[in-house]
Amino acid sequence: MTEQLIHFDVAAFVVLCITLISQLTRNMKKGSTNRFFLALVVLTMLCAAADIWAALLDNFQYPDHALHIAAHTIYLLLYNSIPPFFLMYIISLTNTWGKVTARVPLAIMLAVPYAANIVLHIVNIFTGCLFTVENNDFTVTSLSVIPYTTAGIYILCCVIHLIRYYKLFTVRKALALLLMLPIMGLVTLSQSVAPNTLIQVFGNAVGLMIISVLVQRPESVIDTFTGLRNYSAYADDMKKHYITDNHVSVILINIANFSSLQKILGYDRTSQMLKMIAKKLYEKSREARSHGMLYYLDRGRFRVVLNSFNRSSAENTAQLMNQLFRQPLKIDKFELNIIAYVCLANCPEDISTFRSLISFGDDFHQKLPFNGEVILADGSKVKSMVTLLSDVDGIIDRAFAKHGFHVYYQPIYSIEQKKFVSAEALLRLIDDKQGFISPEIFIPAAEKSGAIHKIGDFVLNEVCRFIGSEEYKKLGLEYIEINLSVSQCMRHDLAHRVLEIMEKYGVTSDQVNLEITETAASYDQNVMSENLKQLNAAGISFSLDDYGTGYSNMSRIAALPLKIVKLDKSFVNSQTDKMWTILQNTVKMIKDLNMEIVVEGIETADMVKKFSELKCDFIQGFYYSKPIPEQDFVKFISEKNNAVV
Ligand code: C2E
Ligand code: MG
Ligand code: MG
Repeated sequence: MTEQLIHFDVAAFVVLCITLISQLTRNMKKGSTNRFFLALVVLTMLCAAADIWAALLDNFQYPDHALHIAAHTIYLLLYNSIPPFFLMYIISLTNTWGKVTARVPLAIMLAVPYAANIVLHIVNIFTGCLFTVENNDFTVTSLSVIPYTTAGIYILCCVIHLIRYYKLFTVRKALALLLMLPIMGLVTLSQSVAPNTLIQVFGNAVGLMIISVLVQRPESVIDTFTGLRNYSAYADDMKKHYITDNHVSVILINIANFSSLQKILGYDRTSQMLKMIAKKLYEKSREARSHGMLYYLDRGRFRVVLNSFNRSSAENTAQLMNQLFRQPLKIDKFELNIIAYVCLANCPEDISTFRSLISFGDDFHQKLPFNGEVILADGSKVKSMVTLLSDVDGIIDRAFAKHGFHVYYQPIYSIEQKKFVSAEALLRLIDDKQGFISPEIFIPAAEKSGAIHKIGDFVLNEVCRFIGSEEYKKLGLEYIEINLSVSQCMRHDLAHRVLEIMEKYGVTSDQVNLEITETAASYDQNVMSENLKQLNAAGISFSLDDYGTGYSNMSRIAALPLKIVKLDKSFVNSQTDKMWTILQNTVKMIKDLNMEIVVEGIETADMVKKFSELKCDFIQGFYYSKPIPEQDFVKFISEKNNAVV
């Protein structure tokens, strides 16, 4: 009898121990994927131990024949369990358990080879149909091809599954997983050539170590503040749910006052707050027995994904979590009021694509009113917002193809000259399917998708074409105001684009005025400053739009080349005496800075009078006219200016 070499098995045991410790210390215990991986590691460790035991019994020619059979049977059973467990790990990794278990014949078909294998090994104890141990010599029969074949079947299933869901993996992950398979094949082959070198388990151990390093990486999926799964894990998991058509409930929690809380608390206490919220959410999830997976994305955004698709249990969990935020949270001496928007969405029913889930989740708290209740995503308001978000690119493309974009003009009245001297160009979108869509919705969506640049070019072209037309010249207007969005201002070729389009239609720099918002002005970015500098040098003037809505940073405003400040309608319409005093002083301050003032959102004669007395320069609002199409605008100005002058 030749002695069996157990060195590889010992090495395998050590490698697996390290892998196990690394998994446990990196906290990769929760979730079915981690559990299957840990099961695989432990299984392979037991396998190595059983192989060593069987080999030692053989090597030392231990007299108890039954013990030899037992050791070899245990080893072979464990070894033959690795491929089916690996398949289960892959199924769990692709999040397709629901799919497999929903198709009973498929589930049975997958279980049968493994079950047959177990039966065969048990029968072997009594019959020796697979292998025998005679005089401490291990000999296999021709039936031993069966376990190899079943292993082959499971390996094939793994490959098919990986290929079918290849979209879920990065190249690195897919390679790491696929690498396990040739390693398994190679070591089996080498052991069949040199049967006394026990290398099979070692091959598996190396494969698992590679997976542990390249696939099971907590540092890439765990948020360091909260210990919850992070944005990329959320994106990965939700992508899987959408691709595999797995129905899940998602609780989206956005803390609306996160940035102010962050400013008050500072770094350490903010992370303390996030940890505390994460812990409380976890407790609520346990209390509701919903087995939700918790995530912390960033900037005060938490997500809870409930795998079992059960509306009432999901609602119950969302309610419990929502109640959490209705009481102040105590951090050191601070008692914090957290304004958290909690929204429950069933995916893909309420939000049909991964992209719209991300877009919607990003800022739904800025678009929906806050009443402290759980927002249900199947409500009409949310539904229309989601529909729009999921198809914003389609809507914008359709609008370009079918002339759905129209530039409207809202006249601006000069108090001093007592006539209309300018107008603001405002974009309108009329879609075949959705009807009229407000720019407040499609402009931010277009900013996210990048379509804003094409839209910006369209508006500039349209306005410049109008200014260059004979009709416009007869109106005697001074200039047209054009809105620029934040991302337009951040583009390095903005100045070049604007000047190029103006030149195309023979428009001079005093005929346009560009509006930038307070938010854009607060971005202290080189590209933006450079754009403004270049356009200003070319003689173009700027207005500061929506003044009074954001954090009006006066030093920044003083630094910008602004000609006009536009007081926002919400600021202008604030009713209290204190606000009126603030308005009076704001007007005085802007005038002292030698800037002109446009008052927006004026709807009554009374308001016109009030602001005229305050010595504002221009009035814009429904009192005079809503934004109207080009032809109506031409008619309006011709009639009104002639009548007034
Ligand atoms: P904005 O630039 O502040 O435009 C003024 C908004 O106030 C317009 O809304 C206008 O219709 C509305 N408005 C004017 N007078 C009154 C009034 O008396 N009462 C009330 N209740 N509202 C009044 P609109 O057209 O819905 O546009 C909303 C925002 O969308 C604009 O706010 C602007 O920020 C953006 N926007 C519109 N067109 C464009 C565009 O071509 N490019 C970019 N980047 N943004 C645009
Ligand atoms: Mg504007
Ligand atoms: Mg405005």
